Amino acid sequence: MKLLVPVKRVVDYNVKVRVRADGSGVETAGVKMSMNPFDEIAVEEAVRLKEKGVASEVVAVSLGVAACGETIRTALAMGADRGILVETDAELQPLAVAKLLRAIAEREKPGLIILGKQAIDDDMNATGQMLAALLGWPQGTFASKVEIAGETIAVTREIDGGLETVSLSLPAIVTTDLRLNEPRYASLPNIMKARKKPIETLTPAALGVDPAPRLALVTVVEPAKRQAGKKVGSVAELVAKLKTEAKVI
Ligand code: AMP
Repeated sequence: MKLLVPVKRVVDYNVKVRVRADGSGVETAGVKMSMNPFDEIAVEEAVRLKEKGVASEVVAVSLGVAACGETIRTALAMGADRGILVETDAELQPLAVAKLLRAIAEREKPGLIILGKQAIDDDMNATGQMLAALLGWPQGTFASKVEIAGETIAVTREIDGGLETVSLSLPAIVTTDLRLNEPRYASLPNIMKARKKPIETLTPAALGVDPAPRLALVTVVEPAKRQAGKKVGSVAELVAKLKTEAKVI
């Protein structure tokens, strides 16, 4: 079975995000970019399924500017077999990403697509669900455990009341939650090997998809600055302040 893993290039999770002065979005110039952390978990799970002999091939896909090729290289260094880069300078919103991924799924015919539950840049949490709807495939979102048996996959998901397990028939869509696994670091020899693995480059036009945005971004603003805290000298002072000054925000 072939696995498809979409990997998004996002601002690194260690970077303190700054809003552009004109409110048009988040500053990405000169900022360290990395693979979306939930997508690292997706690659890890796919590679483990290959190591267990459940999957035969892992294909990493990234959509966006040419530098997304580096994100694919990271997935290849973690153990993916080949990559597909859909190169465009256009702003890609989840519906466009889902349409492009559907076109790739129709070409590649994977048995399973593992996405992150959300990209940490805009926290959309939409692409996997939209892709499942477009393909008409079952979906298991926020997976903390997956088990494939024959033509079905059991997906354990974290929900408010605890854990829920759904059984899906393949082909299916899974989106990863944090507890699914701990992604490996790519070793130097694997980083070297990844340089020789193939990456095919396509365009939205070649896939017959118009990626034009459907949502208009109105403005992006920094959250209000938190006020500095105050030190209290005693428990009595704390209780007095809680009575007279504390507010529910
Ligand atoms: P989102 O719906 O934007 O929060 O993204 C959810 C997941 O969709 C991500 O974790 C990725 O697996 C996938 N995804 C979203 N955008 C892209 C992209 N430009 N390239 C590759 N994968 C993407």
